[in-house]
Amino acid sequence: MKQLEEKILKEGKVLSSSVLKVDSFINHQMDPQLMKKIGEEFAAIFKDMGITKVVTIESSGIGPALMTALELGVPMVFARKRKSLTLSEGLITSSVYSFTKQETNEVTISADFVNSQDKVLIIDDFLANGQAALGLVDIVEKAGAETVGIGIVIEKAFQDGGRLLRQKGLKVKSLVKIESLENGKVVFLKEEYAEVK
Ligand code: 5GP
Repeated sequence: MKQLEEKILKEGKVLSSSVLKVDSFINHQMDPQLMKKIGEEFAAIFKDMGITKVVTIESSGIGPALMTALELGVPMVFARKRKSLTLSEGLITSSVYSFTKQETNEVTISADFVNSQDKVLIIDDFLANGQAALGLVDIVEKAGAETVGIGIVIEKAFQDGGRLLRQKGLKVKSLVKIESLENGKVVFLKEEYAEVK
């Protein structure tokens, strides 16, 4: 997705050879127009798959997931990382190791909102080692539902997550793939984009 690549080159900050900061348009401040476009792109990719629900993990996945759900005309559910006082029964949980925070969280979804009738599209902002996505796949499975696809805004192709998820037979589509963040420079991998647009 060209617009996203341009935004990353203009505003993204390479924090290290493995971490990209995109706080000005995805992870802290959000760019609604860009999010809308991201939602349209994901909806176009996954539109014929009978999706009944979009699932993500708080907080950074919520923006792109909500815009995708709006385009697809289905609800969006986000997994919580903290226990909620009003959410105590019928919970489905999975342990997720956070790449950026380097801690393990129990992530939770209420069984009220994902069930055996659902065909789920998982959306997240970044794909690194795949732990967040695998945790969500696990929750969807525990709910008796089916993960029909995974949409990632920014995949860091030099990390293992993409290979891990695709090896499991999951359909993973990324709007942008990064080949390298070495020497403070973002280098994009080109092959996937041709397929998207
Ligand atoms: P994974 O679970 O695939 O290892 O990491 C994905 C999660 O970690 C995403 O939900 C995202 O929030 C965070 N993350 C991973 N890599 C990056 C990165 O380079 N930059 C930012 N801002 N977040 C990242």
